Amino acid sequence: MSERVEPFEEETAPTGPAADAVALLQELIRAGCVNDGTPGSGQEIRAVRVLQRFLAPAIAAGRLETHVFEAAPGRASLVARVRGTDDAAPVLGLLGHLDVVPVDPNGWTRNPFGGELIDGEVWGRGAVDMLYLTAVFATVVRELALAPERPRGGLVLLAVADEEAGGEHGIHWLVREHPEAVRVTEAISESGGMRMGRHVAIEVAEKGSAGRRLVIHGKPGHASIPYGATSAAYRVGEVLQRLGEVMPAAELGELWDAFVAARIDDPELAERLRDPVRLDAALPLLGGIAGYAHAVSRVTISPTVLRAGKTHNVIPPLGTIDLDIRTLPGTSDAEVDELLRAVLGELASGVEIRHLRGWAATSSSPDTPLYAAIERAVAAVAAAPTVPIMAAGGSDARVLRELGIPAYGYGILGPGWSYERYREGVHGNDERIDVASVELSLAALRRIVAERIGAERIAAR
Ligand SMILES: [Zn+2]
Repeated sequence: MSERVEPFEEETAPTGPAADAVALLQELIRAGCVNDGTPGSGQEIRAVRVLQRFLAPAIAAGRLETHVFEAAPGRASLVARVRGTDDAAPVLGLLGHLDVVPVDPNGWTRNPFGGELIDGEVWGRGAVDMLYLTAVFATVVRELALAPERPRGGLVLLAVADEEAGGEHGIHWLVREHPEAVRVTEAISESGGMRMGRHVAIEVAEKGSAGRRLVIHGKPGHASIPYGATSAAYRVGEVLQRLGEVMPAAELGELWDAFVAARIDDPELAERLRDPVRLDAALPLLGGIAGYAHAVSRVTISPTVLRAGKTHNVIPPLGTIDLDIRTLPGTSDAEVDELLRAVLGELASGVEIRHLRGWAATSSSPDTPLYAAIERAVAAVAAAPTVPIMAAGGSDARVLRELGIPAYGYGILGPGWSYERYREGVHGNDERIDVASVELSLAALRRIVAERIGAERIAAR
């Protein structure tokens, strides 16, 4: 926490259609559920208590069933369900996480857990990732539960712990231990809403992860007589150099075409980007979006952890290189190994490839009634078309996609929110979201809910 004394600022209460969602967002930020990856961190029970207070009127009205699940002490998730009248109708899940990543307090201009509203922006860790959406989700669930008529389909708020550390105490645990509680037929979650040209990006796919450990053998010897020795350290160096020089080839699909069409105005550049052979040379022309374009156009390989040698005076007989490899939808484990051997070339024969933990890439077709409803709502509220995109990283939505449930990364951020700005805001210093983006996301979600589950009248505030 910063020691700096903040100048007094009058915090004006938010007004307008998103007032409830903004006030809830501020409270969720103040709950400060920082997840540093250790089992005792997060303590999402604090955010769950905030949600319980927020949802209390709907619970009292008898229209909302809520359950709190605790995977470990303090690692709480809340599930709130509005039941529909028709068992055959869709059940829409709104999957939002409650935890946030740690902050570097010295990098912040304001209290990262103050939830202050200043000049139309709510400041704090998690404002963008993803507490603003969790607040929007809870607001719509409360409105629906207080509406005069029951909807045809169901609506379920899944407000979960531990997304930032992989979901072992959150969505994974819930799906494993309480599958009936999280049962939905389609879902909306985070990682959408950025602007790609005049389009609003909706995430339909996430890359997978295939960790690998390269094991490299040498021969031990005394470090005082290195001549003629076979040091694993040098061979690790050779392999690293090769990994830095050889870029896996681009594999372009429909989502790549959609990205290029949405984001690249220059027709000549667009044509180069659609050609897997000429693409790589064009990457430097893409500025701030180059890293994203590189990542979603291929399998990527990043060496992360190196090991060789244990003792100062012994030539190391063994070295290892851990690789963070991110795969595309459809990439098999065997293909990853094959790609690695191709990249290593003649060095491959001296390298043993071991498998570390991983998960497959996931995707949901944009050809579903839910995606169409999102598309219509975005058009109505933001006067913009949508573009389906692949995320380079992962989110909880993957767990639902693995169950065969269509899941999309949603949101509508204001026109100034390029993909680059979003990437910088998430997990960075001075994270904050403008009220206008909250309003857009809320207004469109009301329409999506109305269309998908036949809730003609969501309670007027
Ligand atoms: Zn997130």
